[in-house]
Amino acid sequence: ESLINRIAAGEIIHRPASALKELLENSLDAGATTIRVTVKDGGLKLLQIQDNGSGIRRSDLPILAERFTTSKLTTFSDLTKLTTYGFRGEALASISHVAYLSVVTKTRTSTCAYKALYSDGKLVPAQPGQSEEPKPCAGNDGTTITIENLFFNTPTRLSALRNTSEEYARILDVLTKYAIHNPKVSFMCKKAGSSSPDLSTPSASTTRHAIKMLYGPSIEKDLLQIAVNEDMKGEVSWSSEVYFTNVNYQAKKTILLLFINSRLVESTRIKRAIENVYTGILPKGVSPFVYLSLKIDPRSVDVNVHPTKKEVHFLNEEEITMQICDTLQAKIAEKSH
Ligand code: ADP
Ligand code: MG
Repeated sequence: ESLINRIAAGEIIHRPASALKELLENSLDAGATTIRVTVKDGGLKLLQIQDNGSGIRRSDLPILAERFTTSKLTTFSDLTKLTTYGFRGEALASISHVAYLSVVTKTRTSTCAYKALYSDGKLVPAQPGQSEEPKPCAGNDGTTITIENLFFNTPTRLSALRNTSEEYARILDVLTKYAIHNPKVSFMCKKAGSSSPDLSTPSASTTRHAIKMLYGPSIEKDLLQIAVNEDMKGEVSWSSEVYFTNVNYQAKKTILLLFINSRLVESTRIKRAIENVYTGILPKGVSPFVYLSLKIDPRSVDVNVHPTKKEVHFLNEEEITMQICDTLQAKIAEKSH
């Protein structure tokens, strides 16, 4: 059974960056305004994320890393998330099957923090013979999640992830994208033991400023912005915000930051449609930067596609994509006159 769980976990947690993505979304869901990430060996040895969000109640800790269950559903009673992503509640569970997972958390109203350790979905004691119950400890408001020795029990996957600097680059890439999508939140990322962060953003920034900070000042001069939306009675209504480069910015390959309902996703179709807009405008070998945030009715996201699968699909995908791309094209044309 544990082998099956490990395989299932590997479907959700492919590498350190995919674990980080899940943890980031949890911290953002919890209303964090400061998120600090510490990494050792590309996240394989250590991946720690500290937030100042709502914290987790002591009574929720025993089932925190349980796979999606009715008890978890009713306890966390957050049905909105269910509809946002189809079905959820698997990230911490999955991580606990393929790594050592520990949580230190404190809610605003609690007088102390609690520390809990998890393995294979369940609370485990810190030392053999001790109680597995969460232990009171000192700690700030918020949550610190620590993942150690990721994939220690799945050697095949571990050996596929030998290049720790590539894994670290992927972690920074995910953080960069979430920092742009959440410019009000301060993000920080560093290697364990290092005093200087490799990524650091201020709080209360703007999307434009975050893009400039993280992708370099040369992008900003060329950055255009549009908002496209549709609101039809009885029909799927949606809205989008797009920041994209005009013809002067020259990326080697398309940089697309695609967020659907605040979740970073990939879509080959949307990427192709955007690239089509720029074909003929940009010289060969030159590509744009595009940040696209799309808000759609959660019920129109394809629930048959697992949310952690890379490709996302949603209702009226073609029309929505076309409308956005047409507006984008018109804006570029307008600017070139
Ligand atoms: P999901 O986010 O889909 O519910 P997860 O396994 O990612 O499933 O997390 C389980 C639950 O643990 C979340 O719903 C949330 O209530 C709680 N949680 C996880 N991380 C945090 C955090 N950083 N701050 C507050 N609550 C958290
Ligand atoms: Mg989650």
